[in-house]
Amino acid sequence: MRATSQAFLENAERALGDVQLQRALENVPRGFVTKRAAARARLPEFDALRDEARAIKDHVLANLDLYLEEYERKVVEAGGHVHWAASSAEARAIIVDILNAAGARRVTKGKSMVSEEMALNEALVPQGFEVTETDLGEYLIQLRGETPSHIIAPAVHLNKEQVATDFRRHHRALPAGRPLHEPSALVAEARQVLREKFLAADAGITGANFLVAETGSAVIVTNEGNGDLTQTLARVHIVVASLEKIVPTLEDTTTILRLLARSATGQECATYTTFSCGPRRPGDVDGPEEYHVVLLDNGRSELLASDFRPILRCIRCGACMNHCPVYQAVGGHAYGWVYPGPVGAVLTPALIGIAEAAPLPEASTFCGRCEEVCPMQIPLPGLLRKWRMRAHEAQAPGTTPWQGRLALRAWGWLARHPRLYQLAARLGVGIARGFWARYGRLVGAPFTSAWTRYRDLPAPEGGTFQARWRRHQRHRQLSSAQWRHKGPGQ
Ligand code: SF4
Repeated sequence: MRATSQAFLENAERALGDVQLQRALENVPRGFVTKRAAARARLPEFDALRDEARAIKDHVLANLDLYLEEYERKVVEAGGHVHWAASSAEARAIIVDILNAAGARRVTKGKSMVSEEMALNEALVPQGFEVTETDLGEYLIQLRGETPSHIIAPAVHLNKEQVATDFRRHHRALPAGRPLHEPSALVAEARQVLREKFLAADAGITGANFLVAETGSAVIVTNEGNGDLTQTLARVHIVVASLEKIVPTLEDTTTILRLLARSATGQECATYTTFSCGPRRPGDVDGPEEYHVVLLDNGRSELLASDFRPILRCIRCGACMNHCPVYQAVGGHAYGWVYPGPVGAVLTPALIGIAEAAPLPEASTFCGRCEEVCPMQIPLPGLLRKWRMRAHEAQAPGTTPWQGRLALRAWGWLARHPRLYQLAARLGVGIARGFWARYGRLVGAPFTSAWTRYRDLPAPEGGTFQARWRRHQRHRQLSSAQWRHKGPGQ
């Protein structure tokens, strides 16, 4: 996937003008945010679990090599194969080799953000593999030739009318006049089409929410059951996962699982939580004949040794983007690469380079909601600030333009000269009031156009902040003097 993160501002502008997208984005706070809040309220030990989960992941990251080796040992003991890939290109080549060696042409895939990161479909399709995404959202965007706009709801930007149109265009074998108005009809049609793909598949590729070192299991969490059909029906099962998905034990996995679904969709747990533990054994009723795990590094080792290590605690729940005012306004495609929202704004510069992604850390109001809701307590605003500093130091394109830098320098100078600062603040308030008095809104005032193009700034009330604060202090002193003089209760 070609990254357009550098063009975040243009992407965002387009997204803000897209009426259909704006309507779809209204569902994010209505659905995910409300449901997460209710699920969190129903679990008194939620914060204690967050502490525990964070400690588990910190421990794993401090001992990653040991747990990865233990995991590999368990997979091999169970009859599977583990492949180590330093880069996306290596991982793609490994997967192509596995498929060719197995004579597999038809491939089904469960949802996997890591396979998006490594642009797996773009490598497989030109080589003649027939690849079908089986997660409903992923299937919809595959039909449209799009990329996911959310890490757990890839098609959150689409409405049912668009889906019906796409189905009519692609499912040509079905009767042209069939009714497709209801979501249930769309789901039933997708199920019918995908069922044939599952049954015909030679190989199934899934991601992993967790890799359990203790047992060598790969865990996937879904609400559709497509992951189970992908991994059990085909002859070959390939798991693709990045290194940091390791957790030490099954008990640790269950601790983090209690947070995952609640933070993601507000469910107590997802409909399907599936542990795959190697190839089919004698006596098993189903399961693949071959089982492979491709472990992708792709920059994680460097991240581990950097200030950005906490982002490797991420369990891809999506809560940070659901609560982010920037994501809620522009959606996921504006971020221009695989991972949107606050997690993407931290991870993308690490994976594709700050020069390619410098505008992303700027896409934050620093309101702190992302950190507040993150089940793994990742200090997202702090990490974004670090990226801003790096981008600023590297003078990466897309960082604060020279006018902004000059204004900040002037502000810094004024802040060190309080009398002049107060004078400038009074002047600013006077100018803003003048605009309001004349035009009824703050439009066209110097330095404000980027903000006022889409929203109003309220008229300043009652002078500068410092003037109001001084008045407030005087008022408080006066009240307490009166209180002392009269005594309480009079
Ligand atoms: S950064 Fe936190 S909130 Fe965001 S996806 Fe990762 S775990 Fe979830």
